Amino acid sequence: MAELEGLEFGKSDFVLLDEVTMEQFMENLKLRFEKARIYTFIGEVVVSVNPYRHLDIYGKEVIEDYRGRELYENPPHLYAVADAAYKAMKRRAKDTCIVISGESGAGKTEASKYIMQYIAAITNPSQRAEVESVKNVLLKSNCVLEAFGNAKTNRNDNSSRFGKYMDINFNFNGDPTGGHINNYLLEKSRVAQQQEGERNFHSFYQVLRGGSDGLLKSLYLQRDPAEYAYTSQGASITLASNNDSLCHKAVMAALKVIGFTTEEISSIYKILSTILHLGNLQFTSDGEHVVLVGEDTVKHISELTSTEPENTRKALLYRTVATGGGEVIEKGHSEQEASYGRDAFAKALYERLFAWIVGRINSVIQVMDYNPALHGKNTVIGVLDIYGFEIFDNNSFEQFCINYCNEKLQQLFIELILRQEQDEYQREGITWQNIEYFNNQIIVDLVEQPHKGIISVLDEACLTAGKVTDTVCLDSMNKKLGQHPHYTSRKVSTHKSYHSFLYSVEGFLDKNKDPLFQDFKRLMYNSSDPVLKEMWPDGKMSITEVTKRPLTAATLFKNSIIALVDKLACKEPYYVRCIKPNEVKSPLLFDDGRCQHQVAYLGLLENVHVRRAGFAYRQPYARFLQRYKMTCEYTWPNHLMSSDQEAVEAIVNQHGFEDDVAYGHTKLFVRTPRTLFTLEQERAAL
Ligand code: ATP
Ligand code: MG
Repeated sequence: MAELEGLEFGKSDFVLLDEVTMEQFMENLKLRFEKARIYTFIGEVVVSVNPYRHLDIYGKEVIEDYRGRELYENPPHLYAVADAAYKAMKRRAKDTCIVISGESGAGKTEASKYIMQYIAAITNPSQRAEVESVKNVLLKSNCVLEAFGNAKTNRNDNSSRFGKYMDINFNFNGDPTGGHINNYLLEKSRVAQQQEGERNFHSFYQVLRGGSDGLLKSLYLQRDPAEYAYTSQGASITLASNNDSLCHKAVMAALKVIGFTTEEISSIYKILSTILHLGNLQFTSDGEHVVLVGEDTVKHISELTSTEPENTRKALLYRTVATGGGEVIEKGHSEQEASYGRDAFAKALYERLFAWIVGRINSVIQVMDYNPALHGKNTVIGVLDIYGFEIFDNNSFEQFCINYCNEKLQQLFIELILRQEQDEYQREGITWQNIEYFNNQIIVDLVEQPHKGIISVLDEACLTAGKVTDTVCLDSMNKKLGQHPHYTSRKVSTHKSYHSFLYSVEGFLDKNKDPLFQDFKRLMYNSSDPVLKEMWPDGKMSITEVTKRPLTAATLFKNSIIALVDKLACKEPYYVRCIKPNEVKSPLLFDDGRCQHQVAYLGLLENVHVRRAGFAYRQPYARFLQRYKMTCEYTWPNHLMSSDQEAVEAIVNQHGFEDDVAYGHTKLFVRTPRTLFTLEQERAAL
């Protein structure tokens, strides 16, 4: 039990609250934040509040304090959870996962990095070169993924615009041997459009500001991001807390360490440059046809993408269509279609670049030739850093997807926390009654059920020929789902005890269909740059072969999230729940309203209730004895009983706690926190 901090810092575990009320919860959270105790347990869950300042709590000595220790032996910390997950993996050969959740700016990515650093620090004591190299790639991959997947938003200067799940594989020694990264729903709309005050992905500014003169010249780029439509819309080009130029050098170095070849690195920057040039292309009409403004730009794009200028021009101005009679014709774009096509192309280029980079990193850290018979069981720790619930003034398709993902993760959280408790009681031979809890499944079903759910109705509308508008689609949803208890017109309400979201259906169909003219795909597939070609295998098909409709964005996302949840569900879960203390990045301000809101929708009170409904605490007999033997005359300094369990019984009986405990096969279970609390006080008073 982590009472090593002293009571002036509040309760280090929320199960120790006198009463589980929002008021007491918030009071404790605030007190700890103000005392720079940003971590607090709920049993094995760590609640973290972003300190918005550097705290000296991540050093080598601290790592040593947590290494191999039990959760309750030290103050709450990310390291305690990382170590618990690692121990479970190593001692019990369990696959584990650490799920980090919270809203934008709450500190998820920072937490995931500290956890990875901890694991890196405590493994491979013998410094074997191949293990060191795996660790290095795993750590360096963060820098690359952040450059390409993060951006300045109005909520976070370094906001991850994709979800990330990373598996780290371990051999029987408990040393990392490889890993795998899954990325989810990159916010590619940002490539072509940024809101006021926001930026495009960091990567663009980094190359512009940090690339050598030679590199920029070869990419036909000017240094100033203001020159490019795609990097200047948000009117927030400079980032105070981020040195783009230095980051560029770090990314270059990281790419090399990971093992990207010079040609590959060159292709990456050519693609970035292509996107910037695309953004500056304009279309106009010569009275009869739509024409391009900026011939030089087209030439640069062709050169950078290793394609023929004539083909590039054509792909930008025309699309090939198959007529009913099987004839193939070229149809000129309208100005609007041409601009739409250009942006869709730029977004797809970036999305595929990002996916390719992730795939390339995976190919380096893939566990090769693993033979369990020879090397023992290969175990995994998964780390999930994924966007939390998003509620803006205007909530669109992206928020719908993100919130659906969170509903599913919330469901998993409740199920797993309960299941874990129940498993433990069963293992220890303790009777246990099921706890009632809100089953989120009804909301998950509302979104994902085949033929009936929101995604299915959306897909149907996308597949219907002719002009189905967003409003028509909404009508159809209203008709089909209007009776659902969690659906009302224009509003899909989520968990009844949390809050409800309002979504604007505008743009849903287009974002779900996510169309890209086949002509662009073919253009890229025919590039003589092998890296680019590899990213566009679907460009191989001619227009007459393109019959099957690709899966929609929502369905692809749904499938990936279902796969993710399946992956998590078979692992032993550990949780970090991050809270953002205020909207202004202040280390001093604890905004009660905002924090309470987060505590509510993260279901933290519910979590404390579940934890206390059964037995709040459990400890192996030997440990309990070690900690409290001085509080009982029969056990101090040593006991003469035949087992530790009997000695523990003596302590319990002496204090009159018989009704508050149960004896498991290996552990003592304590129902109310007050019991341990009293013991702790007695211990301290001695
Ligand atoms: P998003 O969902 O937008 O990606 P996030 O939850 O990943 O947000 P982070 O990027 O981890 O948020 O954190 C935002 C900022 O808060 C960091 O850039 C850093 O300045 C600060 N921060 C977060 N955690 C810590 C910490 N433990 N110590 C000091 N500063 C922190
Ligand atoms: Mg992040």
